[in-house]
Amino acid sequence: MKFRTRAIHVGSEPDATGAVIPPIYLATTFIQPGAGEWGTFDYSRSGSPTRARVEKVLADLEGAAGALAFSSGMAATHCAMMLLEAGSHVIASNDIYGGTYRLLHKICSRNQIEVSLVAAHDSESIADAIRPNTKMVWIESIGNPLITIPDIPSIASITRPAGILLGVDSTFVPPSILRPIELGADIVMHSATKLLGGHSDCLAGVLAARDRELHDRLYYTQNATGAVLGGLESFLLHRGIKTLALRVREQSRSALRIAQWLERHPKVRRVLYPGLASHPQHARASKYMGDQFGTVISFELTGDIAETKRVCSATQLFGLAVSLGAVESLIEQPATMSHASYDSTARATAGISDSLIRLSVGLEDADDLIADLDQAIGSQP
Ligand code: PLP
Repeated sequence: MKFRTRAIHVGSEPDATGAVIPPIYLATTFIQPGAGEWGTFDYSRSGSPTRARVEKVLADLEGAAGALAFSSGMAATHCAMMLLEAGSHVIASNDIYGGTYRLLHKICSRNQIEVSLVAAHDSESIADAIRPNTKMVWIESIGNPLITIPDIPSIASITRPAGILLGVDSTFVPPSILRPIELGADIVMHSATKLLGGHSDCLAGVLAARDRELHDRLYYTQNATGAVLGGLESFLLHRGIKTLALRVREQSRSALRIAQWLERHPKVRRVLYPGLASHPQHARASKYMGDQFGTVISFELTGDIAETKRVCSATQLFGLAVSLGAVESLIEQPATMSHASYDSTARATAGISDSLIRLSVGLEDADDLIADLDQAIGSQP
């Protein structure tokens, strides 16, 4: 069956009541057949019927051996990092989510995990950074906020023979567009708070694993540490996934129109969007993502930083907030918001300037969104 059919039916099989929408189980514990005999579910940290349903559809859509649902994206990334033993080395892209940067540099470092940040869209820079103790490469399928596109198969051809795990945070590119495991990744992570949930009402994270053995190691850590997704959120995430492909297609279409409009604007210095022919990795993005380039655009104005801040506060439809991927459009300044956890030198090295603005394009009419940006930016150069 095709993606949209599976998104609606896998994990939503009717139960004994015939309900077309699975019930929400909130039970934290389950009656067992006998002392020391275990039923399918025993305690909801270890597994629950509602979470199992959403994990089933997630594994299916990602082409994974199994998927695990977490209480947030960061909980999912942390669980993946807990695979690493003390003294391991991680290579990560230099434009990753600020929270991931903080996790690696302030939390994993307590366990003597060493981190190298590289420009991951250049696979050679990953090869060059490998050390004898390198155990993981962690990239984003679209780098954030510089909208860089890594070559996942080429990176996998470096990590796989070296026995290094390749983890891909694919929050910006959902499985209706790109499935990193098919391209060679070992672990796919999502902040499901974003496109998968899609409605800004559910904080959630996902890990999907290439093989059963890796899934079971991640499951063991998840159960031992406990950051699982609750019943209500599992239900909301599952509901969001049913409309994922349609939402993302429409939002990507609007994002391309807005990016093209921004590129022509006299007060805009540069626009970063992989659907634009001017994007340095446009050909690569087309190869792996087809004609859907995601819902996030970054751009810089010709004016000073005060002008950047003014525009961020002047939009009426684009809400000034972190996060992305939901039905409502958002605007933010990465340097002071989503990427404030970077130290300023790392931000400068990566090229995340104070004048960068990031847009998350929602499901509103693209004409209205363009009109909103037009009035906020103003036409006088
Ligand atoms: N990865 C990316 C690319 C993100 O944008 C975010 C959140 O903005 C996260 C991970 C963290 O996810 P969460 O906020 O669900 O913990």
